[in-house]
Amino acid sequence: MKTFDVIIAGAGPAGSTAAKLLGEAGVSTLLLDKSAFPRDKPCGGGISARVLQRFPYLLSALKSIPTSWVNKVHFESPSGFVVDYQSPDPLYLMIRRCEFDNLLFSLARPRVETVTGLARKVIVHRDYVTVSTDTHEYRSRMIIGCDGANSVVARAAGIRTGSVQTSYAIDMMEETPREELSTAERDRMYIYYRIRSHYGYGYVFPKTDHLNVGVGFKLDYYLANLRGEHYSHHRSFVEDLKSKRVLAGQSNRDNFRAFPLPISGPLARTHGDRVLLAGDAGGFVNALTAEGIYYAMVSGELAARAAVQGQLNGYERAWKQEIGDELAHSVRLQKLLLDDPTRIDRIVRAASRHAPLAEILAHYATGAITHAQFKQSMLRRALPSYLREKTRQFVFG
Ligand SMILES: Cc1cc2nc3c(=O)[nH]c(=O)nc-3n(C[C@H](O)[C@H](O)[C@H](O)COP(=O)(O)OP(=O)(O)OC[C@H]3O[C@@H](n4cnc5c(N)ncnc54)[C@H](O)[C@@H]3O)c2cc1C
Repeated sequence: MKTFDVIIAGAGPAGSTAAKLLGEAGVSTLLLDKSAFPRDKPCGGGISARVLQRFPYLLSALKSIPTSWVNKVHFESPSGFVVDYQSPDPLYLMIRRCEFDNLLFSLARPRVETVTGLARKVIVHRDYVTVSTDTHEYRSRMIIGCDGANSVVARAAGIRTGSVQTSYAIDMMEETPREELSTAERDRMYIYYRIRSHYGYGYVFPKTDHLNVGVGFKLDYYLANLRGEHYSHHRSFVEDLKSKRVLAGQSNRDNFRAFPLPISGPLARTHGDRVLLAGDAGGFVNALTAEGIYYAMVSGELAARAAVQGQLNGYERAWKQEIGDELAHSVRLQKLLLDDPTRIDRIVRAASRHAPLAEILAHYATGAITHAQFKQSMLRRALPSYLREKTRQFVFG
């Protein structure tokens, strides 16, 4: 049986980022993924621009794959209020997951052992961990579970138990070449809240040569109220956008996939004896925006650092310090907006009338500012401008 210091299950953004750091630190590491790379992952493929400050090595690495930037954001509320914001700076990085994940994997591969195989059975013993695939068994001192939303490691460690209906969303998307389906502007992304009165969201993310379009619903809401064929919900969203002239061309069912994602914040426990969970496996997704790639990379790196230091309980302290607040706020805001969706109307309507508010909203939704900066900007910039406007209306009618 082959033995390692660390086994990483899953080589997505969380796993490959963790493997890169462990490999560079000289820790003997197995990076195990059920798919051979390059592999695809259903995803919008939009990443907050801050990923480049947090992972500076990406600046040069990204030159090897097609990328583009969005600096215009279109928000639409349930009742059709619209904000169109244009930033002087790039706001959101557009990538295709098959290319981006393969890039991260290739950065990790030189210094770790990589194996293609499904982790079927994970057993956490008192002094070691074993992982069995169909053909092999591996042993390690510890395991980092980066195996995504359906994590086998989280369940084997007893950290994730029970149903995920109330804590997950189901997101359905297609990634289709621009010749078949397109938007007029390649630097504008579209975000729709609570589409057609459902508890859902929709998005259009333009790539260099492709277009990603998708809709997502809270899983419990979807199971109780919608069901039916996944593609039919997606298709009617595409048709809506065609009738609004946001999209031109045809949806291509062959490029369509539905996939779950956690939207209730990090699990109450993200480490156990000999186990750390990172990325979707640990629930590291922004509950308001469904952004997960950035948080997967951050949590993957922090998990690897804790493993190098041999202090697994330092992991939770580290992620709480860096991303804990913003993820907790995202869950609170999501609940607030779902409890009373007219709030989204009121926010978007106010932002459509007050430029400073539109800017703050766009920067917050794209991860350009933190929750603390969001609150500060609201108090210092949006509120005074809003009050000045109200006073002007009151005085001059
Ligand atoms: C449709 C959709 C759209 C999204 N859009 C965006 C977006 O635009 N921007 C954004 O930031 N986030 C988005 N997200 C969220 C984002 O995709 C995830 O948060 C992100 O992929 C998490 O990375 P990860 O490394 O934790 O997991 P993953 O990327 O899911 O990687 C997990 C890896 O583990 C492997 N694996 C799984 N099980 C096993 C096993 N038992 N044994 C071995 N290997 C295994 C898989 O093959 C995979 O390679 C979206 C999610 C969905 C579903």
